[in-house]
Amino acid sequence: MEKNSPLPSRLPASAPLGKLWLVGAGPGDPDLLTLKAARLLESADLVVHDGLVGQGVLDLIPPHVERISVAKQRSRHTMKQELINELIVREALAGRQVVRLKGGDPFIFGRGGEELDAARAAGVACETVPGITAAAGCAAQAGLPLTHRADASAVTFVAGQCKDLSDQDWSGLAGIGRTLVIYMGLATAAAISDKLIHDGVSPDLPVCVMERGTTAQARALRTILTDLGDLVLREQVASPALIIVGEVAKRADALDCLGAPGIATQIDAVLLRNQI
Ligand code: SAH
Repeated sequence: MEKNSPLPSRLPASAPLGKLWLVGAGPGDPDLLTLKAARLLESADLVVHDGLVGQGVLDLIPPHVERISVAKQRSRHTMKQELINELIVREALAGRQVVRLKGGDPFIFGRGGEELDAARAAGVACETVPGITAAAGCAAQAGLPLTHRADASAVTFVAGQCKDLSDQDWSGLAGIGRTLVIYMGLATAAAISDKLIHDGVSPDLPVCVMERGTTAQARALRTILTDLGDLVLREQVASPALIIVGEVAKRADALDCLGAPGIATQIDAVLLRNQI
């Protein structure tokens, strides 16, 4: 990043009014962008985007619009959140129309809340444009109704990236009548499966792993809870991927991945019980 001058303490009276837009880019497919997001990409002075934003969406940014990537990976931060906050606030205070473009929805595990706080603290006008979150995008593509009336009356979004998973109390989030959607859970998939089973969730509860949902490379893989960790390794599931745990997963248009001996029989038994 080049522009690292300190924040201006006071704007000159004639300065144009800048604004920050926290914009959801959706889960990958550019057709899932909102009309408002598409319009803002056209009219922005600067687009600051993260690594999850799909290439198809980035291609919609006109060449005259400046763009800065602040791509992050789980274990390697190219730009710290505080620096991102500083950058977008400074540019808006300088009078620019700044689009902060984020994968999915800015307020679902997107740290959009922190950016909004920073804008408010600096007196920068800020507006949020929602995007289709990965759960909705992946579920739609795989024909998996997250709250099918017959299977679930509650759905929970959880972040699974914490190493020992001790930060969250997951009791009661998964099981009969509930759908659990785990974001950022690939690295901890086996631990998540163990934790849920330890908490009393049935080991044969259907699970769907959705890789690169809504893109041409998307994969939807189904197994049962006890096999989740093995499946991720066996199939070399790559990020970004979502894990959906619950009866609804049996409805997904997904590849059945029956790795260990006996698992196929267990799945058949579950499906038979539910007469699917
Ligand atoms: N704000 C984003 C989520 C950011 S957290 C949203 O609303 O979707 C990043 C996690 O989102 C990834 O680790 C993955 O679990 C999930 N994710 C994002 N895009 C995805 C995609 N196309 N397919 C599957 N999972 C995705």
